[in-house]
Amino acid sequence: MVNIFQKFKNALSVRGRLHRKVMIMMLLTSVLPIIFLGFLALVSLNTAHRIDVADIESNLINQKTEEIKTFLKGALNMLELRVTFPQVTDIEIGQQHYLLGQLLAENTAFNEISFVSLNGRETSKQGRLSLKNLADLSRLQKFLEAKAGKNYISPVYFTLSGPMITIAAPVKNSNNVIISVLTAELDLKGLEKIINKSILGNAGYLYLIDQDGFLVVWSEKNNTPPTYAADLRQIGFTNQLIQGESFLGADKQARYRSFFGKQVVGAGEFLSDFNLGVVAEWPVSDADNIIATVRNQIIVVSLIVLILTLLFSLFLAGQIVSPIKTLESSAELIAAGKFEHPVQISTHDEIEDLGRAFNKMMEGLKRLEELKNEFVFIAAHEIRTPVTAIKGYISMVVDKSAGKLDEETSRFLGEVKKASDRLNNLVNDLLQIARSEAGRLEIKVTPTEVTEPVKAVLAELKVLADEKSISLVYEPRALPKVLADPARLKEVLVNLVGNAIKYTLGAGAVTISQEIIGKEIITHVADTGIGIPLGAQQKLFEKFYRVPDERTREITGTGLGLFIVKEIIERMNGRIWVESESEKGSVFSFGLPIVSIDKTD
Ligand code: ADP
Repeated sequence: MVNIFQKFKNALSVRGRLHRKVMIMMLLTSVLPIIFLGFLALVSLNTAHRIDVADIESNLINQKTEEIKTFLKGALNMLELRVTFPQVTDIEIGQQHYLLGQLLAENTAFNEISFVSLNGRETSKQGRLSLKNLADLSRLQKFLEAKAGKNYISPVYFTLSGPMITIAAPVKNSNNVIISVLTAELDLKGLEKIINKSILGNAGYLYLIDQDGFLVVWSEKNNTPPTYAADLRQIGFTNQLIQGESFLGADKQARYRSFFGKQVVGAGEFLSDFNLGVVAEWPVSDADNIIATVRNQIIVVSLIVLILTLLFSLFLAGQIVSPIKTLESSAELIAAGKFEHPVQISTHDEIEDLGRAFNKMMEGLKRLEELKNEFVFIAAHEIRTPVTAIKGYISMVVDKSAGKLDEETSRFLGEVKKASDRLNNLVNDLLQIARSEAGRLEIKVTPTEVTEPVKAVLAELKVLADEKSISLVYEPRALPKVLADPARLKEVLVNLVGNAIKYTLGAGAVTISQEIIGKEIITHVADTGIGIPLGAQQKLFEKFYRVPDERTREITGTGLGLFIVKEIIERMNGRIWVESESEKGSVFSFGLPIVSIDKTD
């Protein structure tokens, strides 16, 4: 478990160009489809929901339309009386009153009801409120239409007791002959029950409007109670509705700000036969509430999947890229000549095979390097003996023949001596490096005093310095001992002070100073020589590197000294660095660890 977690953490911490590319590929192939699918799901949900809302509203309106029709047709049917006898031409007044009483009792929506004779005069009348006189209706449409055998429904009109509608129907005998007319005032408050019974979500409501767009009855669910007979024509929707446009179904669904204040999804239909329009309004907030949960779930699930995919992509990209990075850093180690770190890749795929091949290559290179070192070591070692002999004999010849030879021969011999010195140095340096690389450079650290070696080296090099009028400055201080190999430390100092003298062209000064910094003693070798350009400073400690400079071409050197110095210092657990400015001089500094108290004695 911990292992998996660690693997995951490592994979997440990988960065780089390839990583970015793999990530982009993953994103394109997985994250984008997820976003697209999530988006598609939301759009489909929305569309389905719009259709659902429209269907619910339309069904409700159809149902209510039927109920309203039943209400009005029922009332009309009650008026369509038929006398059982064939020859009857009129109904007797007493009988009329009896029938009117019956009708009023049967239908509470009848507010007032009257018999009208065929000449247009009311013959009897009964109502729930105080009655007006019998009137002459002969010119009124309700009478004329009923007398002509049709059922009549008037436009809605408003009275103090509520919205009303007038209906009229013919009364016939059994021979189907019209013998009278019945008219009634129908109280539309009876429709409130129908409207109130409807359920439209939590906050949806219904209302009826008349032929002029005035509010007739409304549902109690409407939280903003409107005023009786309110004029709704200021709403575009109402206007379109009373002009006969139907708003049923998803295509005709309307979204608008309702007369009652809220943004609603509206549907409606105008029943021109009855002069009434049925409207359903569902506040958007409530209608959409149902899908809000599903929508949120889709969003949350998509987000979770997205985050997981992202993490997984990061992990996978890391898994792919991290072995490549391992190979890269290993290749860098090889380039730096370090062959001790085989790559460890366990991806169980081609990259693991590549890792194995890489390790084989590394072993091959290591073997080659060893062979080369061995060769250089043997060669240098074998060359050293004759070179030492040449150098010794030439020195002897030069010393012994001083003053005895002619000038030209002396000069030639002098050149041979210089060349043999140079050859001797080169062979010694090569041998030193070969030893070091073959692991034969022996370094034994012991608590070592640091001022004595400096003094000894300065004394040794004084002749060289004097020749060039370079003063050697050193003020020894009481310092603790360091852990170092005394002979190697002297070698380092000879090299650094030698270079300082070598690369100071005219007169100048070489100053050696020492200080304690932390747990180290730092020795600085500062000169007033030609300095080293910044670009060359990094390469200075590399094998065979010499700063390309016209002025130092004549100065003999192999470019191996500083490489050996660094090797020695590092093998003694120290460090070395340089600070320099062209034409002003250089300061080579190295630090060696101070012997801790328990090791001093
Ligand atoms: P070399 O045998 O050439 O002196 P080193 O490894 O000792 O080899 O030095 C490498 C190069 O660094 C030298 O060739 C020289 O260009 C530069 N160098 C070393 N020490 C100094 C110094 N004190 N001032 C200026 N240049 C230096």
